[in-house]
Amino acid sequence: MAEYASLGDVAGKRVLVRSDLNVPLDGARITDDGRIRASVPTIRELSEAGARVVVMAHLGRPKGEPDPAYSLRPVAARLGELLGTEVAFADDTVGESARAVVSGLQDGQVAVLENVRFDAGETSKDDDERAAFADRLAELGDAFVSDGFGVVHRKQASVYDVAQRLPHAMGGLVRTETEVLRRLTQSPERPYVVVLGGSKVSDKLAVIDNLLGKADTLLIGGGMVFTFLAAQGHGVGQSLLEKDQVDTCRAYLERSAESGVEIVLPTDVVVAPEFKADAEPTVVPVAEIPSDQIGLDIGPDSATAFAEIVRGARTVFWNGPMGVFEFDSFAAGTRVVAEALTEVDGLSVVGGGDSAAAVRQLGVPESGFGHISTGGGASLEYLEGKELPGLTVLED
Ligand code: ADP
Ligand code: MG
Repeated sequence: MAEYASLGDVAGKRVLVRSDLNVPLDGARITDDGRIRASVPTIRELSEAGARVVVMAHLGRPKGEPDPAYSLRPVAARLGELLGTEVAFADDTVGESARAVVSGLQDGQVAVLENVRFDAGETSKDDDERAAFADRLAELGDAFVSDGFGVVHRKQASVYDVAQRLPHAMGGLVRTETEVLRRLTQSPERPYVVVLGGSKVSDKLAVIDNLLGKADTLLIGGGMVFTFLAAQGHGVGQSLLEKDQVDTCRAYLERSAESGVEIVLPTDVVVAPEFKADAEPTVVPVAEIPSDQIGLDIGPDSATAFAEIVRGARTVFWNGPMGVFEFDSFAAGTRVVAEALTEVDGLSVVGGGDSAAAVRQLGVPESGFGHISTGGGASLEYLEGKELPGLTVLED
């Protein structure tokens, strides 16, 4: 319990824990429970120390009001299975049910509150609105433990404002995550290779700006590729394209040429006529993407080339799948790159919800990686050198 020393003896206290339980769902079925598993040790540790643990979390992006499609109930049930104990569930965030469930807790017992994003105050940009919600959350606890690494880059009520209202401590998961990321930002062993992919193109383009000064090589795959290919003058057919970012990508390519940081793009891609699991895949050179097709994965030559660069690195950070790995026909690029990461003689880090899910779904042994981060956006912002409000607030 050394980590929570600042909270004093937690036995008998109601400890609010902000966890990141934002797992991918197919209906009510959890398709990857990695984030729930990662949240277990802190919850268990507090419970074993006799705390009455009240877990706050969000799921998906409901619109600030209750929406059954985003209920945390199935997640709370899975948490109970993993903990091996009964987990109480409150049907609301700070209402009658939450108050009743929390006041019914015995020492060591665990409860989960309904999705905090069912209240508009959680994510409001208006300080007063957030404060009003945070006041009510804080009434449910005597202390606060921040353990949701995937949300520490958010200035949100259950992440930021609650910490200002209660004695607080950093959870074990957040501590581990930040320690690994610190190693990436402070003198990483070289060569330092960063692999970027996925679908949140404009979010991730911002990171490149900063990485151009830090990494030795940047490998680009996933949906982001096509904006770069467009910047080189290639047609990208029906592929994901952020037209307003083409100039930015062109500037990055020019800067990379000047700065000696290499940006490596695929030379071939796998295209298909439709965004569908059973769509017919075809491999084409990047200069020959048919105008009616969609690029859904990097091609086999590119995957081999990326893997070789990854294997030669001493430090690798990977965020974002190389293709639509959810469909078997377009998973090969992600698989080849993921496997290469497990062969790195040095530190390999995977960051991002979908990237971590891809690793598990493709059956690449998790033990082969130095670290699998639960937070995509948070880890990218950390690497960018931004201040993360959820971490800063814990310092006072
Ligand atoms: P992470 O959660 O790891 O940060 P993102 O959320 O940015 O990653 O992106 C993950 C998604 O990117 C996956 O669902 C994957 O299907 C999608 N993706 C990868 N390549 C492409 C592509 N070429 N076109 C469209 N979507 C893609
Ligand atoms: Mg994602």
